[in-house]
Amino acid sequence: MKNLYIDFDGVLMDTITTSYRLLDESEIDKNNPDEILKFYQTLNWEEIIEVTPILNDSINRLKKIKDSNRFDVSILTHVNSTAEIVEKVKFIRKYFHDITVIACPKQISKTMMVHAKDAILIDDYTENLVEWKKAGGIGIKFSTVYKDRGFKCISHIDEILNMNFE
Ligand SMILES: [Mg+2]
Repeated sequence: MKNLYIDFDGVLMDTITTSYRLLDESEIDKNNPDEILKFYQTLNWEEIIEVTPILNDSINRLKKIKDSNRFDVSILTHVNSTAEIVEKVKFIRKYFHDITVIACPKQISKTMMVHAKDAILIDDYTENLVEWKKAGGIGIKFSTVYKDRGFKCISHIDEILNMNFE
C-alpha cells in the first residue's frame, strides 16, 4: 500500500484565509517578520478551528479515501506552536480514530519529517511539492481553482482514487 500524506491548511480546512483575516484585523506591522512569526506562534487555534470551514467536502472525501484501503493515509501539517498541534489533532479525532497526524515544525521541510520516497503528498503549497519531488516522492497539487504548476492538480482530495500510481 502506498503512503499518502495529506496537508491540513488549505486542503482539509480553509485556515489560511482565517489566519490572514486575523492578521489583517490585528495591529501587527506586516513588514516586521518577527512580529508576524510571533503572531503565528500565539494564534488561538481553538477559535480558528471553530470558525473555519472545511474545504470542498474534504472530511467526507477523506473517509472515502480511507475506506478504499488503497493508501496508508496520514495527515502531514506544518505547525508554529504546540497549541496548534493539539487543536488540529482534536479536530481530526472528531472524525477519525485511525489516521496518524504528523506535525512538522514550520522551520523544516516536510521531507525531513517523513520518508518521502515513492510516497504521495497532496498539498496546496507548490514549494512543498517541489521539495517532495526532489526527495523522490509524488506531489499532487490541491487547488480550489485550477492551477497547473507542473504537478497534477485536484480540487477534491478523493480525485486521487481516479489516479494510477503503479
Ligand atoms: Mg497547506
